[in-house]
Amino acid sequence: MQIQNYIDGQWVEVEGKKLAVINPANGQQLAQVPLSTAVEVDMAAKAAKRAQKAWANVPAPKRADYLYEIAFHLKQKKEQLATLLTKEMGKVLEEALGEVQEAIDMAFYMAGEGRRLFGETVPSELSHKFAMSVRTPVGVAGIITPWNFPIAIASWKAFPALVTGNTVVWKPSNETPLIAYEMTKIFNEVGLPAGVINVVFGAGSTVGTAMIEHPDIQIISFTGSNETGSKVAELGGKLLKKVSLELGGKNAVIVMDDADIELAVEGILWSAFGTAGQRCTACSRVIVHKDIKESIVARLREEMKKLTIGNGLDSANKIGPVINKSALEKINKYVQIGKQEGATLLEGGHILSEPPFDQGYYFEPTLFVDVEPHMIIAQEEIFGPVISLIEVSSLEEAIEVNNGVVFGLSSSIFSKDVNTIFKAQHLLDTGIVYVNAGTTGAEIHLPFGGTKGTGNGHRDSGQAALDVYTEWKSVYVDYSGKLQRAQIDV
Ligand code: NAD
Repeated sequence: MQIQNYIDGQWVEVEGKKLAVINPANGQQLAQVPLSTAVEVDMAAKAAKRAQKAWANVPAPKRADYLYEIAFHLKQKKEQLATLLTKEMGKVLEEALGEVQEAIDMAFYMAGEGRRLFGETVPSELSHKFAMSVRTPVGVAGIITPWNFPIAIASWKAFPALVTGNTVVWKPSNETPLIAYEMTKIFNEVGLPAGVINVVFGAGSTVGTAMIEHPDIQIISFTGSNETGSKVAELGGKLLKKVSLELGGKNAVIVMDDADIELAVEGILWSAFGTAGQRCTACSRVIVHKDIKESIVARLREEMKKLTIGNGLDSANKIGPVINKSALEKINKYVQIGKQEGATLLEGGHILSEPPFDQGYYFEPTLFVDVEPHMIIAQEEIFGPVISLIEVSSLEEAIEVNNGVVFGLSSSIFSKDVNTIFKAQHLLDTGIVYVNAGTTGAEIHLPFGGTKGTGNGHRDSGQAALDVYTEWKSVYVDYSGKLQRAQIDV
């Protein structure tokens, strides 16, 4: 398949070097992705700028109609898109279907915003004066997305940007350009006016940097690693751009001594090993009360042995491959570090290199116990199927351990005690807290994002996403016929 950029309503061929797109399940080449340059970014940004004023003048309910159309197209192509997603990214088909559903939900939800986009009307302190606030678009939104949720995250960003009257330049990840290309085809099919959405494929260091530097792009919405996020923030900050960052996590499940152990084990397995541990909200630490540690470890080990690994297109498999060879090596490096730090490796810990796994990138589900909170494996994001189990003696200690990392994305607690649950949700310092469920499973109509090193205070999803793509304008209408001075003539 020939992947092309989409600029100003046209498919644009890119000359020059291309990069192979590989199926991580079996190493087969699926396509080649073009490596665009600052030239294509410039074309896209200028097209987006040209289109923006007219787009902002389209009434929001009419802009929303395009999103409804996008939702219907996504719905119609759900199976086809999910299959492609599994081939390109590796997550098992059931999860890929869930991810496409998330994009569908987001399209419907943000389409609904076309008839809301609420501002405020408030009484003025002066008579015969009207006061209100309205949302206005930021302008051209530059969207940079990762490979682990390539269609869901693009929808979290592009749909609120569009419905609020921004035009968009989108750079998808080079690991997952095919699903992005299919989504772009839908944007084309629904007849969005030329320049309203532009898609430029290529490397982050060239295309991403050129987007941040481009004077016509006012906001950068980025999801990815902390390492890249800090570069985006630095460059964007220097140029006084609005920058929204959604970064990594080191998420924990806390299991208290009164928890339903079977439910907790199920929650840990799903949130730690789903998507082969490559979700930003994946459970990477299990903080367990000492009185039930032995039972949790025993049940986890039993269930981990049953996990079936392999190509995600085969419904018998529960865990697919990780994204590429360097991800395998990174996970393996952390396992070696864990052993050197003195943690006990109880399950897994190896790259699967024998047939039928030898052509793909598979890592065994891995369990470390005797992990201390300060260890590197308990502090850094591994982004693979690895759990570090930490023993604690009280709720207070569990919360201290949970909060003792630089990240603040998601946390979870299993308990049956209402006081424990409410105390925990109050004290856990993450942007997302789950009670009696694992650390994953966000719904699109609530804010999504994290505190501390997970970002810079913005949120994807829910009403909060509207704040990223709009500026507030406060409007005062004085119909008294005389000059009234606020704070003075009262
Ligand atoms: P990454 O940082 O390597 O890449 C993300 C995107 O940034 C890609 O499109 C990449 O090409 C681009 N990029 C790379 N260098 C760039 C630069 N210098 N300037 C601008 N753009 C650049 O991340 P990844 O490996 O694709 O994704 C995994 C990471 O994303 C994990 O850390 C995960 O936790 C995080 N993530 C966070 C969330 C969240 O909402 N908090 C959601 C999903 C993933």
